[in-house]
Amino acid sequence: MQVVRTVAALRALRGQASSPVGLVPTMGALHDGHLSLVKRAREQCATVIASLFVNPAQFGPNEDFDRYPRDEARDLALFEQAGADAVFMPSVEEMYPPGDATVVTLTGISERLEGSHRPGHFDGVATVVTRLFNQVQPDRAYFGQKDAQQLLVIRTLTRDLHLPVEIVGCPTVREADGLALSSRNVYLSEQQRAQAPSLSRGLLRARDAFASGLCDAGLLRGLVREQVDAQPLAEIDYISLAHPETLDELDGAIEGPALLSLAVRFGATRLIDNVVLGEH
Ligand code: AMP
Repeated sequence: MQVVRTVAALRALRGQASSPVGLVPTMGALHDGHLSLVKRAREQCATVIASLFVNPAQFGPNEDFDRYPRDEARDLALFEQAGADAVFMPSVEEMYPPGDATVVTLTGISERLEGSHRPGHFDGVATVVTRLFNQVQPDRAYFGQKDAQQLLVIRTLTRDLHLPVEIVGCPTVREADGLALSSRNVYLSEQQRAQAPSLSRGLLRARDAFASGLCDAGLLRGLVREQVDAQPLAEIDYISLAHPETLDELDGAIEGPALLSLAVRFGATRLIDNVVLGEH
């Protein structure tokens, strides 16, 4: 597995790579969710390039950029085991050289849900992903459904900018008790960890209820809220049932598909999760 840290070295590698080339962008602190993306890319692509870059532009001033978990040696070993051919690990200066002035902003969808609680977050995501696409020039890029709004933002910018990349969404990988894997789960205390599966429990209750015929948007959101509200350490940022492409909040009877998503804080740690109702 090759490790490259500059765009020039990446370009040289890309020039030699067999097609199709798959890209798996990450911020490291790898878990089985990330590795499922690498494995999927490995099945579908002749060359798999992962990126590891903790992107300062997508963290707010009071967020966890400085304390975000970093373990380069462990991450490289895991990328290699999962089948990556190369890892692109640029420095902040390589990605954002002095004098850098270009930001990619999406209107509408990037201002809702996560965007309204984390102003500027999706500007950071869209900017770095656009750069990674131009740097790597992948045929396909792999992203987790765990970050459903991010996936939508990336699909939208790829379409709007006519980027020649196929976006592949991959299912959320969970712990045995339902908690979605996240690099931030390591911040949870034992008590918080015990209460964290309430997010997925609420989502799955609502999904089951919808499958059994309950279609009132308010009642479906209420089923999720009931599970999370029962946890003394949980503070809800939002519970949303929205159109999966516009992210407009839904009211009354829904037909699906609809994105049911939530963000919950346990102390300083913020967890997100989602399911799509009425898929397939
Ligand atoms: P991150 O390192 O948090 O930026 O995540 C890198 C990629 O892994 C993103 O496309 C995420 O959506 C994806 N990802 C994170 N957690 C999971 C998970 N539990 N299951 C599947 N994909 C995930």
